[in-house]
Amino acid sequence: MAFEQARALGFIYALAMFFILAYLWHTKRWTRRIGWVILLVTLAFGFLIFSPIMPWQFQSLILGDARAVGGPLVVAAVGLIVMLALSFLFGRFYCGYLCPVGAAQELASLAPISKIKVTNKVWPGAIRWIFFILFIGAAYFFSFGLLRLFGIRDFFLLLLSAGFFIFLVIIAISLFLYRPFCRFICPFGALVSIPAMGSLFKIRRTDACISCGKCEKACPTNEAKSGDLKGECYLCHRCLDVCPTQGALEYRRAGAAEGKEGTK
Ligand code: SF4
Ligand code: SF4
Repeated sequence: MAFEQARALGFIYALAMFFILAYLWHTKRWTRRIGWVILLVTLAFGFLIFSPIMPWQFQSLILGDARAVGGPLVVAAVGLIVMLALSFLFGRFYCGYLCPVGAAQELASLAPISKIKVTNKVWPGAIRWIFFILFIGAAYFFSFGLLRLFGIRDFFLLLLSAGFFIFLVIIAISLFLYRPFCRFICPFGALVSIPAMGSLFKIRRTDACISCGKCEKACPTNEAKSGDLKGECYLCHRCLDVCPTQGALEYRRAGAAEGKEGTK
């Protein structure tokens, strides 16, 4: 099987795991250990078949590079649309667990090193949208893929180029700043944040919440306040881990438990 075609396996993995993760979260069967295993498997997929790396697929699609996509462009477009649709249903499980680029940063963020928290909610998103415009412009006017500068491909293909070391620096930054590539750069992440804001299933507060604020302190992306839309929620589980009140935070549909919900 050609390397490009093997990437389809990565997409099938992401598709299946999306539903499995949503099920595990909804039924409260998710555990941190399961999360670690999924992150490691995703990372292995990245190194072995360079998939399912949607940001790279998105760039290849924008550049019209069918060879890099590993199949007809229309298939890549459908794949991206499916991931966006699933993010609308279930939130950012793709970014949280199934993207090798995100998994590498998430695993680095688990290191017990005190973190710098960016409290401004507007700037990371704004910087990412500015990059998105530059990314589209570079592809359209110069047929250049800006993501090449960040070494994603070289890192996962173990090509010891300048790009490889640039991505290594990004991983090093992830030790003390949560997901710098995802939050400040990734053009696919910018797109996914839109359906994720309106996702049907998301973490919601219930009337059991005692407003202690622990989840807000623990959230690395400032998405744990009541009323936050969760467009930048990577379903990392940190808010649920620190919540002292059972049932105060639940991953569920709006109105799924009538009379239970105090805030969203
Ligand atoms: S934001 Fe981009 S790099 Fe990060 S996990 Fe999502 S798709 Fe991957
Ligand atoms: S702490 Fe909670 S709200 Fe914040 S990103 Fe993680 S799962 Fe989402």
